[in-house]
Amino acid sequence: MTTSTPAIEVSNLTRAFGKVRAVDGLSFQAAAGEVVGFIGANGAGKTTTMRILATLDSPDSGTAKIGGHDVADRPEQVREILGWVPDAFTAYENLTVAEYVDFFARAHGYSGGERRNRIEDVLGFTGLDKLADRLANKMSKGQTQRLCLCRALLHDPQVLILDEPAAGLDPQARVELKQLIRILADDGRTLLISSHILSELGEMCDRLIFIDAGKLLHDGSAEDLLRGAASDRTLVDIRVVPGSGDPTTTLELQPGVEIVEALRSGTRVSLDDDSPEALARLLKQLVGSGLHVTGFHTIERNLDETFIKMLGKANGSVETSPVSTSIPPAR
Ligand code: ATP
Repeated sequence: MTTSTPAIEVSNLTRAFGKVRAVDGLSFQAAAGEVVGFIGANGAGKTTTMRILATLDSPDSGTAKIGGHDVADRPEQVREILGWVPDAFTAYENLTVAEYVDFFARAHGYSGGERRNRIEDVLGFTGLDKLADRLANKMSKGQTQRLCLCRALLHDPQVLILDEPAAGLDPQARVELKQLIRILADDGRTLLISSHILSELGEMCDRLIFIDAGKLLHDGSAEDLLRGAASDRTLVDIRVVPGSGDPTTTLELQPGVEIVEALRSGTRVSLDDDSPEALARLLKQLVGSGLHVTGFHTIERNLDETFIKMLGKANGSVETSPVSTSIPPAR
């Protein structure tokens, strides 16, 4: 692989299951050394794309390449340079962590001192050296995730594909995962990481790829995404003393104001004008209508909100439709 060859290259990829077009004309690239977040709602096509890249499934049309090797034509070459961390993982029964890793090191063709060194390196890197004698199928979610990463790193792959690696991890384990990812990237490896935890991905990725219904929605940095959203309508949270009245009645009458979401003791609105004068006018109207306003502040859009907004646009829904926070009473 030369430095100009993309580490990952997906071109017009399509994969259908019956009538479901899981991946629908998807194209994107990742350069060597890049950490790319792969984001989409449930069923968006992330796992299907990643399984194709990992040579575990075949596209109906289009191409997927790892280090310039087509996954369909040259799966052996792809597997040599690719590490795959699936979203679901079960270790074999009655094997310790050390035995499990040793088994896969042998499968990769390591022997003698080289195998011992390699196992020591990956166990040490993932912090599993302290758990080497534990049964591999009796570990916590975070430890299991690390074992999966450990296995994927055994053959020193240049490209890593991680499907939802942060799912189910506690905050401490997430921080540790993030640190491991950063070290791997600083080492020049390319990582494609899928997740629903967008804010976390924003911090750890150089680029974010958003997909929906198998199609590309956005490809750029987290900053690009937030900058794009920032030029849009401004969000304001309004809080009132509980039981002092419903701000929506007043808000619905204000031009340029749309209700986004009901909050506990308040409402989130979006405004087409966020000048100090317009904000002051709105606050005056609320107070003038007899509401006991305790909070009135603009909020920054975060990645999750931007993603939901983007999905709404792609599906033709209106972003500002009110969302109820109450459960309907039993009938
Ligand atoms: P999640 O975040 O929920 O894991 P995803 O983005 O990874 O979702 P995929 O697992 O790729 O989504 O699924 C994309 C679509 O393809 C879904 O509608 C799913 O039901 C369908 N699908 C995936 N694999 C199969 C299969 N083997 N047979 C039938 N349908 C499938």
